[in-house]
Amino acid sequence: LGQKIGQALKKLNAASVIDDKLLQEILTEIASALLSADVNIKYVIKLRDSVKTQVTLQMNSDGQSANGVATVRKLIQRTVVEELTAMLQPAENRPYEFKKGKANVVMLVGLQGSGKTTTCTKFAYHYMKKGWRVGLVCADTFRAGAFEQLKMNAAKIKCPFFGHKKETDPVKIAEEGVNFFKKEKFEIIIVDTSGRHKQEAALFEEMQQVQQTIKPDTAIFVMDSSIGQACYDQAQAFNKTIRVGSVIITKLDGHAKGGGALSAVAATQSPVVFIGTGEHFDDLEPFEAEGFIKRLLGLGDLSGLMKTVKEAISEEKQKNMIENLQKGQFRLRDMRDQFQSVLNMGPLSQVVGMIPGLNANLIPKGKEKEGTDRVKRFLYMMDSMTEEELDCVKPLTESRIARVAQGSGTRVEEVNFLLEEYKKFEKMVSKMGKMSNLAGKKPADL
Ligand code: GDP
Ligand code: MG
Repeated sequence: LGQKIGQALKKLNAASVIDDKLLQEILTEIASALLSADVNIKYVIKLRDSVKTQVTLQMNSDGQSANGVATVRKLIQRTVVEELTAMLQPAENRPYEFKKGKANVVMLVGLQGSGKTTTCTKFAYHYMKKGWRVGLVCADTFRAGAFEQLKMNAAKIKCPFFGHKKETDPVKIAEEGVNFFKKEKFEIIIVDTSGRHKQEAALFEEMQQVQQTIKPDTAIFVMDSSIGQACYDQAQAFNKTIRVGSVIITKLDGHAKGGGALSAVAATQSPVVFIGTGEHFDDLEPFEAEGFIKRLLGLGDLSGLMKTVKEAISEEKQKNMIENLQKGQFRLRDMRDQFQSVLNMGPLSQVVGMIPGLNANLIPKGKEKEGTDRVKRFLYMMDSMTEEELDCVKPLTESRIARVAQGSGTRVEEVNFLLEEYKKFEKMVSKMGKMSNLAGKKPADL
């Protein structure tokens, strides 16, 4: 889906004149891509009309000057991004918010292999780190080894676990587990459920029974991002039986860009809350609609990043960095140069907004000052690293991290945070570098 829309938008870049005919053509392509992904026709029409109205207005006022074409092009892109972003955030349904002082019960559902058990663990870990008392319940009696899998995961993250190896009734275990954790005054109780390879009546019946018995505060539908078009039906089927409250999309670290998210949201009218980006327990990221849509459409902000780089750092460094980005490589050194240029460029929020994966948690809106200070501290830390460490030739072991913290007058946790941010950044660049049209271009052409 994303690719098709991305292609339509790229046509825009190739055209020198945007007339009614080209506009119509592009809108039709976008609409058919959305429709073929089973996105509700209501949204498709809304998207098409909104783009058309705005663009027509603009064309009438701006004519066909070169400047006009560029403006219209940007406008179309922006409107498509805005509309799709809005689609991912259904106004009627906000995600369930956990409340302190009560037992919040969450049930995760989805087909076998979608990533439920892994996601349960990541989800538990996420809230444990924030200081919540979390318990995990294994109510999957269908898959052999489900009990051991969750038990082992729970042990790894040190989360209390409830399950019975021999029990065969999922409803009974779910009920016992929830009651057990409620009695112990746990705040978040996560119930992992069974899946089947296909949508089957037996699975839905089981989910319904579990739901009616434990009465969860919310049910989260876990969806594998690589299933493509099948996800509308899948999400809808689950939503029909157990009224899904929100969605988690997994395996976004793989090839899938996640176009199915749109369909899942359209089918359930429920927001995406997190995305899974790897097999590790900290590979769970809060969902950020706009960045997601931009990546989906291949409008990642790498080109913006390139421009910043070109304007803010020396030619030699530029050449190096652009070459590395093209190879999908990103070293600590690149991150340092990037942050340095961010500080040189001013309005931090604007510049940081262009860096994929960075804006959401690093520089919270309205906290510019704290953000600037943080970036500065990051730079102190990177200044305390050796050349080899900056080039990521030598991994930062615990003792090296301690040395960096001491040398820069920061805390070990801060250095670890920097490295975590770096890891995310690096992952994003390697993914975007490979898929973007940057590959093969000379730095001078960018
Ligand atoms: P379940 O059957 O729905 O409980 O799915 P599991 O949690 O057992 O996951 C199935 C497979 O997908 C396992 O090999 C997981 O490690 C893998 N997996 C789950 N989430 C992710 C993810 O976000 N990224 C990647 N790469 N693999 C994942
Ligand atoms: Mg499982």
